[in-house]
Amino acid sequence: MVIEDENPYLLLTPGPLSTTPTVKRVMMRDWCTWDDDYNVDVVQVIRKQLVELAGGSPDTHTAVLMQGSGTFSVESAIGSVIPEDGKLLVLANGAYGQRLAKIAARLKIALVVEDSGDLSPPDPVKLEQTLADDPTITHVALVHGETTTGMLNPLDKIAPVVKAAGRVLIVDAMCTFGGVPLNVNQLEIDFVISSANKCIQGVPGFGFIVAKRTVLEATAGWARSLSLDLFDQWKTMEAGNGGKWRYTSPTHTVRAFAQALKELEKEGGIAARCARYTESQHVLSEGMAELGFPSLLPKDVQSPIITAFPFPTDPGFEFKQFYEELKERGFVIYPGKVSDRDTFRIGTIGNVNADDIRRLLTAIKETKR
Ligand SMILES: *Cc1c(COP(=O)(O)O)cnc(C)c1O
Repeated sequence: MVIEDENPYLLLTPGPLSTTPTVKRVMMRDWCTWDDDYNVDVVQVIRKQLVELAGGSPDTHTAVLMQGSGTFSVESAIGSVIPEDGKLLVLANGAYGQRLAKIAARLKIALVVEDSGDLSPPDPVKLEQTLADDPTITHVALVHGETTTGMLNPLDKIAPVVKAAGRVLIVDAMCTFGGVPLNVNQLEIDFVISSANKCIQGVPGFGFIVAKRTVLEATAGWARSLSLDLFDQWKTMEAGNGGKWRYTSPTHTVRAFAQALKELEKEGGIAARCARYTESQHVLSEGMAELGFPSLLPKDVQSPIITAFPFPTDPGFEFKQFYEELKERGFVIYPGKVSDRDTFRIGTIGNVNADDIRRLLTAIKETKR
């Protein structure tokens, strides 16, 4: 049987994103969740590779896979690693930072939110003061790449402040992990969270948490949910030969992810992937500016992942029509909103390169305006 790549358009979105035909192809067989062919040869290999990609070592770090979309893994971490008398400080500057806070509020976890506004990164000096003023704060959470705007938050400046104050650090690196270098050892990050369908370029269905072993080990019995219990999921994945999930695992997605990891390695690892995304992002932002669409963010905080463009002020611009015209030409873009401004966003992650972006720019030039 010949399997065609049937995509009618490229997804220039923050995930799910365009995947390679070879990633899709490996989903054409079925796997038994009790068999070692799956558990040891697929799941355990993935867990080991994730620890390596995060810059951790197997003695000090471990990876836990969790069913569901990325938010489920975020909720699993937030809901499982903060004790009953703990208190979470969330540094927010967009919808995903706000979602961290929303999860904590829903779980009735004591919470402080510092929102620096959609267009400003969190301030390490202010953070230092907040942590000094409130010794009851036990955990700090933030987003690495804020998908709302495409901003790359200054994790290298925030992490040392959190660690100097002796607090636990939780990072939602959903849209950056695998595409932007990050090192859990150097930055002493306790929990880093991402999912299958972002920069590793797999398909949706599960997320993962790379955790510092000693910190995770202390969390037995803290989870506020049964199915999202991070500690229990980890214990099950470690037991016996390892690799077992509690409850049905997304076998096809997991297999696709294993293939995606091989392709990441073949590309040259995170540095090479970051270089590809960065080139695409530069071609995009420069080309768009020439077409009358300046980027929302200044260059120094712009991530290579996704770029936001404010709606142009010319009255002839209608997003819906713009979107449909681009879709007809083979490109799907993403709507957005920051504070009180409408934006659209264009992702440069997935199986997409600078030539695809050049074709997109040609298509944008041809739209009716
Ligand atoms: C994609 C994403 C998530 C998770 O979103 P899901 O729709 O649940 O997969 C969380 N945080 C960030 C920063 C993201 O980009």
